[in-house]
Amino acid sequence: MDSAAAKLVARNTLTIRMSHTAPDGKNVVVGRFAPSPTGPLHFGSLVAAVASYVSCEKWLLRIEDIDTPRNAPDATDSILRTLERCEFVWQEPPLYQSARLDAYREAFEQLKRDGLVYPCGCTRAEIADSAVSQTNSGERPYPGTCRGGIRAGRSPRSWRMRVEAEDIGFEDLIQGRYAQNLAGEVGDFVLLRADGIFGYQLAVVVDDAFQGVTHVMRGADLLSSTPRQIWLQRALGLSEPVYAHHPVATGRDGEKLSKQNLAEPVDLMQPGEAVRRALRFLNHEPPEGLAPGGQLAWAKAHWDTGRVPKVRTLSAGA
Ligand SMILES: [Zn+2]
Repeated sequence: MDSAAAKLVARNTLTIRMSHTAPDGKNVVVGRFAPSPTGPLHFGSLVAAVASYVSCEKWLLRIEDIDTPRNAPDATDSILRTLERCEFVWQEPPLYQSARLDAYREAFEQLKRDGLVYPCGCTRAEIADSAVSQTNSGERPYPGTCRGGIRAGRSPRSWRMRVEAEDIGFEDLIQGRYAQNLAGEVGDFVLLRADGIFGYQLAVVVDDAFQGVTHVMRGADLLSSTPRQIWLQRALGLSEPVYAHHPVATGRDGEKLSKQNLAEPVDLMQPGEAVRRALRFLNHEPPEGLAPGGQLAWAKAHWDTGRVPKVRTLSAGA
């Protein structure tokens, strides 16, 4: 056992990692696709599914249904049905974040014991009104109002993770070196929201460790979340996966395809065409005449992360 793994066992009862070893004892590259069930799978999320699938040896599914007010009825079934139609294969049942609240609570309590989280009494409007200007990552750093304690007469609304004025960076397999000064660009971020829902960053970090994910391949819209996730991994004594952020598909308006700009669901009548389009978007062109599963198998065998366009956004029509 290496020292990082020993530390993990010593500090965390919550990270009983799923074991992924080949029969010859070698470690397996474990990837994951983690959609939020807010609507049917559209081209942008199919790209994320394909990219994660073809770039790993073992592919896991996670349904990020923790943000219950945003969940759409039947969206999970619809997403899984679309993946089946596109002939994705997964061996393990999906992990549902809604069933993982105890694990998030345990990680949160550990950070609290370590003095790394504190209650915040600020309202959303107060933070928006604060004098701190928006940074180039598009986020408004929390000014640290409640760091030294909540103002008199206020009660805790959310709980925040302390960050420091240091660069947290990593080598992205597609986008290259990426770093953020968390204090300057993000500020102390929310781990437990005012509505009682655990923050996205905490849930993702706890689940990636639990699922034994070694390679995170996902859209570049999450690039700016990664330093916060690395910060949490270090605080929790978890190992850091390898990261690769592929370009995000944009529509005619130049915006990321999403339910908000009415991105069309993947056409279940033409799954082969949908998978081919996603692979082409990632700059991989399978031979003609293959069924969707055959295209995915071909791409797994011929996958080259270096061929993926090194940009953060790319038109879906390209
Ligand atoms: Zn505050």
